[in-house]
Amino acid sequence: MSNPLRAVRGMNDLLPAEAPLWQYFETLLHGWLKAYGYREMRTPILEHTALFKRAIGEVTDIVEKEMYTFVDELNGESMTLRPEGTASCVRAAIEHTLLFDGGKRLWYAGPMFRHERPQKGRYRQFHQFGIEALGFAGPDLDIEHLLMTARLWRLLGLSDCIHLELNSLGGAESRARHREKLIAYFQAHEAVLDEDAKRRLHSNPLRILDSKNPTMQAMVEAAPRLMDELDEAALAHFDAVKQGLDDAGIAYKINPRLVRGLDYYNDTVFEWVTDRLGAQGTVCAGGRYDGLVAQLGGKPAPACGFAMGVERLLGLLAEVGVAPPAAAPDVYLVNVGLAASRFALQAGETLRDAGLDVVLHGGGGGFKSQMKKADASGARYAVIIGDDEASVGEVSVKPLRGEGEQQRVALVAAVELCGAGVSPASTDLF
Ligand code: ATP
Ligand code: MG
Repeated sequence: MSNPLRAVRGMNDLLPAEAPLWQYFETLLHGWLKAYGYREMRTPILEHTALFKRAIGEVTDIVEKEMYTFVDELNGESMTLRPEGTASCVRAAIEHTLLFDGGKRLWYAGPMFRHERPQKGRYRQFHQFGIEALGFAGPDLDIEHLLMTARLWRLLGLSDCIHLELNSLGGAESRARHREKLIAYFQAHEAVLDEDAKRRLHSNPLRILDSKNPTMQAMVEAAPRLMDELDEAALAHFDAVKQGLDDAGIAYKINPRLVRGLDYYNDTVFEWVTDRLGAQGTVCAGGRYDGLVAQLGGKPAPACGFAMGVERLLGLLAEVGVAPPAAAPDVYLVNVGLAASRFALQAGETLRDAGLDVVLHGGGGGFKSQMKKADASGARYAVIIGDDEASVGEVSVKPLRGEGEQQRVALVAAVELCGAGVSPASTDLF
């Protein structure tokens, strides 16, 4: 026998039992985004490789070793499955001149692809949800994003297990000054540097600060701080962001080593972190990237945004015990016999016309086994049709939850019987 076909390693199927949690989360997201005036953007999953190289930076984990890149054999072009959403979103905004009449608040959601070692909370196809505010300079949008995320944790009941880490990367000049000091410092500690760090010493020394290598921790901890190089404008921006958080009563921790894995950030960078998910504890990350629009060929426009890892967030929801009940139908339609089966299809449509959710028993089988399925479906009513009922356009309605006798009635009356007392719980997930 040949080997059974399996999904690609690190890429997950979403099974019906897990879908209600995703749907609950997505429905909640849509309402929350509307409350802040963000509008959806959908971009292709495949882009030209050059986009990500230019946006994310050549010397980053993502571009150096995580991208699914291949040559399109039909035209010889290098293509890449998107590893994140910001580059595509900005590319599309430029391509369609979305910013011609001012700033835009945008959001996107969907699968992203990174060739990483699969483990809990780290997959090769994972899902991100993110927002981008393009064309807004002030610190007010940075603050809006932090207020938004804090509200989302409240809505999800996660406020107690997620905390905010914050840093400022300043402007290009402060980063250049800091970079010189960093290189000199790392050179003086060359013996401690690992291979990755040595390679990045001149190309991207800031990223060495992000290293998780335990043997480098003490040395990295004592490295020159970008915070000490910030100029007046960067400090004022950072102070305003902190003030906004204080005004809203949102607690935060300044983390001078928070530099983020992508090159396009400046000024504010932040991460929302939980200690309930082990090593993969960052559920949401973002910041300001004022240079990116111009870098990708657009008219210069400031911007900021964030992305969250949906698997990690839902993993956290499961960890704290949020589990939506499986959605149950209102009616399970039992039908035994040839004429009954024909009438049941019609009856199902009539019941659905009245707004009821109906599962039709398919594939035949005896009365007893069908009733078992009806019960297991969680439906509130079994609507039972035999050839006898079918011949006179009637059905028997049997309540499956709680009290009530089985009644044989005309189909129109069954609509009333099953519709009576429909609880909102049968249409809402929670
Ligand atoms: P990490 O340091 O965990 O690798 P990152 O800095 O690469 O994260 P970002 O590029 O900022 O992550 O992506 C934003 C969010 O997307 C992360 O905070 C995380 O929640 C999620 N994420 C990133 N990579 C993966 C992955 N391979 N699998 C699942 N979620 C991921
Ligand atoms: Mg990563």
